[in-house]
Amino acid sequence: MTSAEPKSSATSVIAGVDLGGTKIQTVVLRTEEVTGSSRVLTPQTGKPGDVIDAIVGTIRTSLEAAGASTSDLREIGIGTPGKVDADAGAVLLAANVPGFSDRVELGPLVSAQLGNTKVTVGNDVSVGVLGEYRRGAGRPYENLLGVWVGTGVGGGLILDGKLHDGRGAGGEIGHVVVKPGGRPCSCGRRGCLEAYAGRVSMERRARELVKRGHRTDLFRIMEKHGRERLSSGIYARALEKGDPMATKLIEDAAWALGIGLASAQNLLDLEAIIVGGGLGDRLGQPFVDQVVRQMTPHLFVPDNPPVVLRTELGDLGGAVGAAVLAGG
Ligand SMILES: [Zn+2]
Repeated sequence: MTSAEPKSSATSVIAGVDLGGTKIQTVVLRTEEVTGSSRVLTPQTGKPGDVIDAIVGTIRTSLEAAGASTSDLREIGIGTPGKVDADAGAVLLAANVPGFSDRVELGPLVSAQLGNTKVTVGNDVSVGVLGEYRRGAGRPYENLLGVWVGTGVGGGLILDGKLHDGRGAGGEIGHVVVKPGGRPCSCGRRGCLEAYAGRVSMERRARELVKRGHRTDLFRIMEKHGRERLSSGIYARALEKGDPMATKLIEDAAWALGIGLASAQNLLDLEAIIVGGGLGDRLGQPFVDQVVRQMTPHLFVPDNPPVVLRTELGDLGGAVGAAVLAGG
């Protein structure tokens, strides 16, 4: 092959980046297979340029691990929290990424440092669900809902094989109302699914209960592990010890998910529901079983329930999905 020939698809690779508030996970795919990956902590300086440099760094490291170079890079996909201007490749607002509270020209800035390679930007939850649909647990299905139970509760819908986000804001299962007038939600309303199953809301509830004199080992375990937040791992450890408050908070989360998912199912008659996110991945099958037990009594057609699955790609799902978004 002479240098004048275009890049062949056999040698070219696609990079997928999962940009998060705490870490950046990148993979490189060659013919649908992960051949390199890299993960770094998200710079907390508040300067968007530092985050861009870190993203470019993980792409270079992943390329190296895959035995490839920048000239082999066909396309790049990036999943980011917050609102996205897909046409411009820009992020309008991603409050939990330091420096991303105003518009950032994410795609063009990354592209400029990597030989003007084409960059496609999408919302992180949609991209994660796309990853599971095309390369993970959702492969056998054409109609599914991914519910990502983490800091908040995000969702993505695949209908007839296509990501469906309505006019841009669809799939927000986290803000389906499970209890009118219930617990306060991060969105400013009350009684949303996220107010019961999102980690931020669950932690707020735990702190309230402690103030009222309820006992729990949750915060002691958190301090022992040098954490500042009640992460999924802290809940997992507290559950193992039979901590009553952790058990109740997780039961409440499963109850709320059961109502929200049954309502989605009754509306859409989906083939599958995939439960992911930090809590879903960390607590695994016992948590999924708990959710199914709470969902089943609310199903309108209980003899034809959706398959409820864990993610298959785990914490690589976002990065793989971003690569899929870019045509990988
Ligand atoms: Zn809400």
